[in-house]
Amino acid sequence: MKTLYSQLPAIDSLLRDPAMQPLLLQSGTAFTTRQLRAMQQEARTHIQQHQTLPGWHLNWPEEAQRRAQQQQQSALRPVFNLTGTVLHTNLGRAQLSARAIEAVTACLRQPVTLEYALDDASRGHRDRAVSALLCELTGAEAACIVNNNAAAVLLMLAALAPGREVIVSRGELVEIGGAFRIPDVMRQAGCQLVEVGTTNRTHLKDYRAGISDNSGLLMKVHTSNYQIQGFTHAVAEAELVALAAQHQLPVITDLGSGSLIDMTAFHLPAEPMPQQLIAAGVDLVSFSGDKLLGGPQAGIIVGKQALIDRLQQHPLKRALRVDKMTLAALEATLQLYRQPETLREALPTLRLLTRSPHEILQQAERLMPALEHAYGADFSLNIAACSSQIGSGSLPVERLPSFAITFSPRESHGSSLDALAQRWRALSQPVIGRIQEGRLWLDLRCLEDEAALIRTLTT
Ligand SMILES: *Cc1c(COP(=O)(O)O)cnc(C)c1O
Repeated sequence: MKTLYSQLPAIDSLLRDPAMQPLLLQSGTAFTTRQLRAMQQEARTHIQQHQTLPGWHLNWPEEAQRRAQQQQQSALRPVFNLTGTVLHTNLGRAQLSARAIEAVTACLRQPVTLEYALDDASRGHRDRAVSALLCELTGAEAACIVNNNAAAVLLMLAALAPGREVIVSRGELVEIGGAFRIPDVMRQAGCQLVEVGTTNRTHLKDYRAGISDNSGLLMKVHTSNYQIQGFTHAVAEAELVALAAQHQLPVITDLGSGSLIDMTAFHLPAEPMPQQLIAAGVDLVSFSGDKLLGGPQAGIIVGKQALIDRLQQHPLKRALRVDKMTLAALEATLQLYRQPETLREALPTLRLLTRSPHEILQQAERLMPALEHAYGADFSLNIAACSSQIGSGSLPVERLPSFAITFSPRESHGSSLDALAQRWRALSQPVIGRIQEGRLWLDLRCLEDEAALIRTLTT
């Protein structure tokens, strides 16, 4: 044992070792020394527990280099999203357009007129550029941008109905993954929830009966991540607006995803559009920046000027406001919507959602030979039809026909699929698929760089 400990190299001599010089140059003395100390400690523990030296003992410089590289990798690793879910919340939702990426980098390199009006050098408003675009695209009078749609809902409620009752249909008391639940947000905003109607049917008379002297507003929530089917009834926004007007109450809608374009024109399932609700007279409509819109994480509120002014003046707005990167990305994304003809090419979300099954099948056929060659000995590979999802609670029931390459183990060891999935997660650019029915599926809908995938999976 003693002799094993004495074989551990001294930190000083390692630091002088010529093989250590590249790491020292790249990472500095302090970092490298910390790294070597940690390795030394680990080696001692290894000797204590196993009475042997660790495997990497033969080459300390190489091991130190390998560990340094691993540590310097970003925790936000780029991955191949072959899960089949286009707007995958855990993988960062929308991929931004080239225009948005350029806009963000430009605003980071130089000072920008974030809150500065060039005509008279006065203080401008940070939401103004994006507001003008949003008004143009949705027909609204004004807009307000916050950190995400959850923040948008919180701000609308806190600013418009503090201490008052908010009337919502029982069928619309949504929970959006994790901590966002309409009743909880109400409480946080200081509002009192008044549930009307039933889970499957809510009528105008239910809203009417729910209105009292303490009502603050009427709220509609788009049931974005579930669908109630069968014997159902919900009140259309226009009807609700007419009722609310009789009582001088505003109507607000949390649209969740929302889409500024008619999705059916792209052969995609219909999704409500903010401009339709504005036209129906809804006072405020909120939706996400990084769902179907295809932009950065943000909460977008459009609607009546007087109400937007109240949101802008509320102290919460300061806490929930977005930074220049978000505004730059959002502005560039919205500008793309001015040219619907080129939107499908320019906006990655729409480009991926609208890929035809035929095109994806052809891609699978192109990839097969190289993957067969690399994995064919241990796995049986097949091209199989599958269904992609839009994701992020958008259009939960609808599926998009797609194709996957599937891997099933030649000998049916249950664990080898998990081992393969794990190996792919450890790659320089991890490849994320899904395991289902005893196969590992790589849904190719979101694969744009074929050559990079082949390189990653076969070298
Ligand atoms: C997604 C969603 C939210 C939350 O939006 P984030 O941008 O993720 O904060 C709120 N309400 C509805 C109906 C949603 O679909």
